[in-house]
Amino acid sequence: HEQVLGEGEALIQQECDGPNEKEILKGFEMNNEACQEVMSLLQREIEANVGKDASATIKMFSTLVKDLPRGEENGQFMVVNLGSRSLRILFVRIEGPQIETHDSKTYTIPPDVRLGTCVQLLNFLENRLSMFVTSKQLTDKETSVGVVFSFPCKYAEEGDLTTARPKKWTKGFNCDKVVGKDFGKLLHEKLKNKLTTCKLTIKVIINDAAGLLIAGIHKDKACRISFVIGKGVNGCYMKDNGSDGTVQGHGDEKTIIATEWGALGENECLEKFRTDFDRTAVNFSMSPKEQILEKMVGRLYIGEIVRQVLLLLTKESHLFKPFYSELPALNEKRGFTTENVLIIDSDMDQEYLTTRDLLQHLEFDNISDEDCKLVKFVCRIVLQRAAFFAAAALATLVKHVQQSHVTVAIDGSLWRSHLRFKQQMMAKTKELVGPDFDVTFLSIIDGSEIGAALTTAL
Ligand code: BGC
Repeated sequence: HEQVLGEGEALIQQECDGPNEKEILKGFEMNNEACQEVMSLLQREIEANVGKDASATIKMFSTLVKDLPRGEENGQFMVVNLGSRSLRILFVRIEGPQIETHDSKTYTIPPDVRLGTCVQLLNFLENRLSMFVTSKQLTDKETSVGVVFSFPCKYAEEGDLTTARPKKWTKGFNCDKVVGKDFGKLLHEKLKNKLTTCKLTIKVIINDAAGLLIAGIHKDKACRISFVIGKGVNGCYMKDNGSDGTVQGHGDEKTIIATEWGALGENECLEKFRTDFDRTAVNFSMSPKEQILEKMVGRLYIGEIVRQVLLLLTKESHLFKPFYSELPALNEKRGFTTENVLIIDSDMDQEYLTTRDLLQHLEFDNISDEDCKLVKFVCRIVLQRAAFFAAAALATLVKHVQQSHVTVAIDGSLWRSHLRFKQQMMAKTKELVGPDFDVTFLSIIDGSEIGAALTTAL
């Protein structure tokens, strides 16, 4: 814990050698003051949403989920998770406190579907569901389906969890003529018209972070927050006392609120924390002005931000040889992946064996120890900033929920795959919330799918 905090304070001062490199990288430093400023900005947005203040930039939404699991639910459900790049179909078996997932199958969503039309998306979903159902010999069996929708959505009808209307696409998904439509109804009609899928009944469409919170509550009654840190980011909370249920006009009842904190910064409030590398990295996005915080924390952009930094360092002769800036790894969009960043950051070898190997694989030759050290440093500082931003967002939710012992259900590929990120985020969150709040982190694999199944059961 202490080591992580030490790292946070002055990583650049202590570990970056050259004065020019220091200057180039200084924008990535996040001290506690900066974290607290981000916390205030997010808290202001939460309050604006609770107070139904139209000036709120982040459009948080009520997930309509009111029934919470008691550990007495039973049944087997099919769950379909529409993520940003893949569609996952699986079964969740619930027997009271025991939950098991099985027979999972993942289908890649091709770019022409992600960026195509509503009809293409519905055809794709029907086709893959049909393949799955046929392979499991379920075509004649009435099956209840829970859908995990990893994008923001609103519901067309109060109390009807099947009437989800996507509010906007994120994470490089941009399917035409879906936003604002009753997606649940469209999907239902599509499936009912086909012999293979007509026995499937969609019971619930739920945001992934909301599903995760339901799964968290099933495991631990003190769970009030969920946090997703993957390609996209999000967090939900449920307050025991307070008026937050009114976010979309649901009286004083308890509901799960999806904060969509990744949208922070769309009103430019984060500009002082953004670097030119961040601004260039998002130029490739279809919506460079949206999901600003998500684009500094989520897995989709980390590699791209690092690539921009390495490119400048190379061009200015602080790294490699200037002509290396022509290599695809530095010169092409997504040439340097987030996966590369995570591998390099995990390299504990004194002689940078893994880093050197990876760079050689990316066609860099004659790499010096100094090169490896600087590349590693860049990866570390960008990841550390992401972990601290995430911690600031989580600390805001913890303080908002105002429960002295709170459990946070947490998942997402960045959280799951990188130990240092996880440790830094946990330590920083605890530091930011202070001694009055005791935060327990509960990692739940397949949490969103389990939550969708539990909600279907309920
Ligand atoms: C979406 C959220 C989602 C998160 C994690 C974000 O891009 O806006 O609704 O929960 O990604 O998948």
